[in-house]
Amino acid sequence: MERVVIVGAGTFGASLAWWLAERGDEVVLVDQFEPGDVRATSGGETRLIRCAHGPDADYSAMARRARTLWLELEAETGASLLTECGISWFAHGDDGWETTSEATLRGLGIPVVRQEVSEAAAQFPSFDGGDLAWVLHEPEAGVLRAQLGVQTLAAAAAARGARVVRGVARPDGDRVVVGDEVLEADRVVWSCGGWLAKLFAGLVELRVTRQELFFFEGDPGWKHAPGWVDYDRAVYGTGDLHDLGVKVAWDMEGPLLEPDADLPPATAETERLTRGYVADRFPALATARLVGSKTCRYEISPDSQFIAAPHPEHPSVWIVGGGSGHGFKHGPAMAERIATAWDGGEPLPARFGLHKRKRGTSLRSAGSN
Ligand SMILES: Cc1cc2nc3c(=O)[nH]c(=O)nc-3n(C[C@H](O)[C@H](O)[C@H](O)COP(=O)(O)OP(=O)(O)OC[C@H]3O[C@@H](n4cnc5c(N)ncnc54)[C@H](O)[C@@H]3O)c2cc1C
Repeated sequence: MERVVIVGAGTFGASLAWWLAERGDEVVLVDQFEPGDVRATSGGETRLIRCAHGPDADYSAMARRARTLWLELEAETGASLLTECGISWFAHGDDGWETTSEATLRGLGIPVVRQEVSEAAAQFPSFDGGDLAWVLHEPEAGVLRAQLGVQTLAAAAAARGARVVRGVARPDGDRVVVGDEVLEADRVVWSCGGWLAKLFAGLVELRVTRQELFFFEGDPGWKHAPGWVDYDRAVYGTGDLHDLGVKVAWDMEGPLLEPDADLPPATAETERLTRGYVADRFPALATARLVGSKTCRYEISPDSQFIAAPHPEHPSVWIVGGGSGHGFKHGPAMAERIATAWDGGEPLPARFGLHKRKRGTSLRSAGSN
């Protein structure tokens, strides 16, 4: 049994609290906000869960394991978190992300279907695939409720004995200071999303960016449409889930935005660009009423790989994050991997380290950096 303090109750921190509390660790989970707050990256309503990661079998397998753990969390708590609507990847050629993803997923035994464009079109109420070569469909992928997910993780961790503390924490060597309280532990984890770069300046390199989402009014057929990703055009979306409207979002890196700055409203320019894509791909939605828009933040590592590594000067202190626009789904599986590595099991990959990183291919749903 270890005493563990985790600062940051996003998907990474709340998952770790849930995981460690189950095995009997004495866990304190600290956050400046309530879990699921909209200012945290995990505080959005929905997030895609997909296994396709191009040629990367490790992330693909981790996403698949995460799906199992999200289902276990549902079973444990009764919360409804995963809509298994499938995800369709729109392939513009035969040698891209979708082709390597298909080979990787088949190698791992993860269900995947290669569709003709006409077959894929039938799954959407309105679809123009004239520019597409084929579509890769992941039938067991889908959409997670993100905010509800982290709230559920934190509550389940508390039910397993974790203490959830509200407050702004600061590092003091291998200790955590929250107001007047100094927390000491066998291990400390800083899973502070976009705030990590400031908390550990010079050690953690992240770009915190503003991202925009749009929700359109669609006909009832959209309630049963798959999620989708147009990787080469850096756009993704979902059907009309939870009455939010049909979601369409650009996945290009937005302008920088401080983690503590207010989230500004979405811009008319991005709405115009989004409507342009919608008119191309889902023509019946071209003039659909906008029922909502939002902004949120990505915290992007240079190579879009996650971070999970010990502090070089304080080996009991760990830094976890770098979700890079694709981290949500992986939370519970990352927690399991971190705990396993701590127990002397399979070490975490070196690429999660705190080394200087080079820019790399985007592992999120954006082919264009
Ligand atoms: C628009 C959008 C779409 C996305 N789509 C997807 C998707 O489809 N699929 C997917 O898997 N991922 C997606 N992501 C990415 C995913 O949401 C993030 O990678 C993930 O949520 C990051 O989680 P985190 O735990 O690292 O950070 P956060 O959720 O930001 O949590 C960090 C927490 O740390 C707390 N904190 C920070 N500093 C302190 C401090 N000093 N003291 C106390 N508390 C502190 C914060 O309050 C916060 O609650 C998307 C992200 C966005 C913004």
